[in-house]
Amino acid sequence: MKLCSVLLLAGIATSVNAFCNSTLPSAVNASACDSGTCGAADVFGGKDVPIVWPRVSNNKVAIRYCFYDTDTDKRLRSLVRGAMDVWMGALGERKKDNGHAIEFYEHTDKDNKPYHCVDESNPSRPWNTNLQTDTVAILWRGADGINPQPVPASSATLGCLKKPNPFVLNLVVGTSHTLWEITHELGHVLGMVHEHQRADRDLFIKYNCDKVFGFDAAWQKASADGISKDRLCNDAQVATYYGFWAGVQFIRGFIGVLKWEVVGSGAYDIESIMHYASDAGVADQTRCNANHPDEPAMCVMAFWKNPSKHDAGWETRFRQNPISQRDVAWVKKVYPWDGTFSWSGQNQDLIQFGDVAK
Ligand SMILES: [Zn+2]
Repeated sequence: MKLCSVLLLAGIATSVNAFCNSTLPSAVNASACDSGTCGAADVFGGKDVPIVWPRVSNNKVAIRYCFYDTDTDKRLRSLVRGAMDVWMGALGERKKDNGHAIEFYEHTDKDNKPYHCVDESNPSRPWNTNLQTDTVAILWRGADGINPQPVPASSATLGCLKKPNPFVLNLVVGTSHTLWEITHELGHVLGMVHEHQRADRDLFIKYNCDKVFGFDAAWQKASADGISKDRLCNDAQVATYYGFWAGVQFIRGFIGVLKWEVVGSGAYDIESIMHYASDAGVADQTRCNANHPDEPAMCVMAFWKNPSKHDAGWETRFRQNPISQRDVAWVKKVYPWDGTFSWSGQNQDLIQFGDVAK
C-alpha cells in the first residue's frame, strides 16, 4: 500500500488551527465549472447546509481526522488510509500544478504519535481536547453503538460545519465494507452527494424504487395510511417515517429529511464514484446481478442506453466506479490551489449518508 499521505502530512505539524468557521472569500464563481467539465453534485450554497472545508495555514485545506481509539486505529487504519491514498492518487499531491489544496490531516503529538478521538487515559473516554471538534471521527460500527444505521453499511457526514460538537463529523466503517465503499464515503466527507440524486437523473437512469431493500415493508404500512408510492419513493421525510431508509439514498433532487437541494453542475456523470451501480440497495440480488444483464427491471437502477432517446432501452451496470475525471474536476473547483472559490455557508445542520450495502 502506498504511504504518500504520510509524506504529505508530515510537514504541517501544529499550524492547523482554524475551525470550519474560518473567514472565507464568499464569491460564488459560477463559471468555474463549465458545462461538461464538472459533473459532481453537492448542496453548497443553499440555506442551512454544511460548508466546504476551510482554508488553514498556507491556504491549504486540511481535512482533519482521528481514529476513535487504539482498537479502532488497529482495525481501520490501513483501510481508511488506503482510501485516502486512492483520492490523493487521483488528485495528485497538493501543489499548484495539480490545482487543488486538499490534504487529509491527522494531528499528532510531539513524538509524532497520532491523537485518537477519545482521551484513553480517562476512564470515561471523553473527546480528546488536543483535537479540534471539527475533526472527522473515524468510527467502527461496533464502537459504542454510534452508527444509527440498521444495516452493516458504512456512512459519513457531508462536508464541514462551524464549530460542531465532538463526533458530529464522522465516518463510520460498517462491519461489511470495501475499499471502494470507504473511498465513496470520503467523497461525502469532501462534500459530494450522490450523483444519482441529481434532479436531472431520470434522463439518464431508470429508478425502480420498488426493488430497493425495505420497500415492501414500508409500502405495506404507507399504503394502509393512504400514502402514494410516489411520495414514499420521492419524499425523504415520508420514506424515513415509514422506515424506508435505503430509499432515502435515491431521492431525486433533495438530500435527507432536511430536503437540501442537490446542485449538479455540468454533465451528469454515470462514471462518478458517487453514483451507485445497478444493484446497490437491491432487495433481491438473485435477479439483479452480472449473470442477469438482460433484466434491468429487476434492479434498483438501470441506465438508459441513449439519454435523449429512451426508446433505445436500458441496461445494467454492476461496476463500482473509481474516482472519475469529473469527480477530480469537482474537487479542484471546490478546493482550488489558490483558494479563490468558495461559498458562504450558513450551516447549522448536518446530514449523514448511510450508504446501502451491496
Ligand atoms: Zn453515499
